[in-house]
Amino acid sequence: MLPSDGRFAPSPTGTLHLGNLRTALLAWLFARSQDARFLLRMEDLDTGRVRERFYDEQVRDLGALGLDWDGPVVRQSDRLDRYGDAIETLAARDLVYECWCTRAEIREAASAPHGDLPEGFYPGTCLRLTGAERAARRAEGRPPALRVRAGAASVTFEDEVAGTVTGAVDDFVVRRNDGAYAYNLAVVVDDAAQGIGEVVRGADLLDSTPRQLWLGERLGLPAPRHAHVPLMLGEDGARLAKRHGAVTLADRAALGETPDDVRALLAASVGLSEPGEAVTPAELVARFSPAVLAPRAGAAR
Ligand code: GLU
Repeated sequence: MLPSDGRFAPSPTGTLHLGNLRTALLAWLFARSQDARFLLRMEDLDTGRVRERFYDEQVRDLGALGLDWDGPVVRQSDRLDRYGDAIETLAARDLVYECWCTRAEIREAASAPHGDLPEGFYPGTCLRLTGAERAARRAEGRPPALRVRAGAASVTFEDEVAGTVTGAVDDFVVRRNDGAYAYNLAVVVDDAAQGIGEVVRGADLLDSTPRQLWLGERLGLPAPRHAHVPLMLGEDGARLAKRHGAVTLADRAALGETPDDVRALLAASVGLSEPGEAVTPAELVARFSPAVLAPRAGAAR
């Protein structure tokens, strides 16, 4: 079994809010409570949305909360060669194909009656192109995206919080038509290269995991374990967002709360402390067990 080394992998596209911070705290607690390494990785491949100032700000906020990590903060933008190599491996195994579909075309095709594709699944339009059609598209000069040939595979895995999860894998994009490597590719390559044994992240990414496990297997990489932790909700029961008010460390500081107060709030929100109780990071490590998050048996999913 892989060690329980973990990571937090934010995208430097905005200020971390309480929900992100709680996921980071939990990922850190999973690793540190098992005496495992904890790494910080900036997922900055979507250059259109990344802003330089958020790298430092996110690192500062995570440090202020009391988290620490091993080694330097890694940036995916420094690791493009590895993703290119992975694409070559997939291509050599005939597991990728070019796709010229626009978003609008995919939306249109997906709403046509064509069986029982889950929502958002790529309907395989470019997989069915004839050799001549493909040559014509290439000649037009518009660059294609690259998709995997997954053939609606089904993947089942044991999530440490959500229990048994089964999901379908569509022909998802591994390299966008602007040349950017896709999250699902980079995350798989990096988690394996960095020796991550336990991926702890928000439950919003649960649906991506079958794709990532499928891809890792095709690339001959070891599969990490997964724990998808509950998302923090606002008072209205909706997933926490900016509109919920004071959701960043800076917002809370303006209300007179220190990062220690915020850590206490986050810990109390998962039952690791009493509301209003001050707790150090070390005390949380001593108290933490994945069982605080949700009983596996009967987990709703
Ligand atoms: N970079 C992704 C995000 O910020 C998280 C990736 C992951 O934890 O696998 O949503």
